[in-house]
Amino acid sequence: MSNKYRGLLLVVSSPSGAGKTTLCTRLRQEFAQLRFSVSYTTRPPRPGEVHGREYFFVDPADFTEMVARDEFAEYALVHGNNYGTSAALVNDALGSGVDLLFDIDFQGGRQLKAKFPGDVVLVFILPPSLSELERRLRSRNTDAPEVIDRRLRVARDELRHYQEYDYIIVNDDLTRAYDVLRSVYVSETFRCVRQRAAAEAVLSGQQVLNIGGRAVTGSEGA
Ligand code: ADP
Ligand code: 5GP
Repeated sequence: MSNKYRGLLLVVSSPSGAGKTTLCTRLRQEFAQLRFSVSYTTRPPRPGEVHGREYFFVDPADFTEMVARDEFAEYALVHGNNYGTSAALVNDALGSGVDLLFDIDFQGGRQLKAKFPGDVVLVFILPPSLSELERRLRSRNTDAPEVIDRRLRVARDELRHYQEYDYIIVNDDLTRAYDVLRSVYVSETFRCVRQRAAAEAVLSGQQVLNIGGRAVTGSEGA
């Protein structure tokens, strides 16, 4: 058995505009050990987006080659563009006890859950209403009107997939929604399947610390 904490794969999905980027950014700011999975996409960058930070922006031919080489843990067509998660990143994280955060859609969440059933936690962010979703998309001011219209048209279809998720968080008030997201994350890190190493370490005479919302064995904390 591994002598390390086993990382979790925290997937956060929602229709565009419900607030998942805002919530995920807060979570990453609070928990330094949570690493963001930077996806590959064929979508053009938005103003301010940086290659390698929000996404790896690739052209469709490169994306197709990556699919052929089996380099994605999951991939999907979303709003007319291709998006995919690096398989190497996921495998490395699981192998080294790192928690990974994913901002991916329900198709990606479903594929990851099928591949890593014990490691994936699926969180769905629900807007308080469809009209508030529209207001947020328009006031965010990042997409052309026809792009917003298309996102609103598919929002209902995305919402219908809520049943595939482990947790649903209504993002009406940002502070309240964040409190729930952080408690889901912290609680999930303490699942038995992830904390076996801590229990085994205590049994073998080592000291285990509870640091930053997660148990750390002496060898990890060093
Ligand atoms: P997503 O990543 O799901 O597309 P964003 O995080 O970009 O959504 O949020 C969409 C817009 O709504 C942003 O302008 C954001 O500041 C705003 N927003 C997020 N959460 C709330 C909230 N609880 N109340 C009001 N506005 C919010
Ligand atoms: P955006 O273009 O607004 O950044 O993202 C559009 C949608 O694509 C969002 O629902 C986002 O969660 C999803 N998405 C981003 N990266 C990936 C990915 O790697 N895989 C999948 N399946 N969806 C993704």
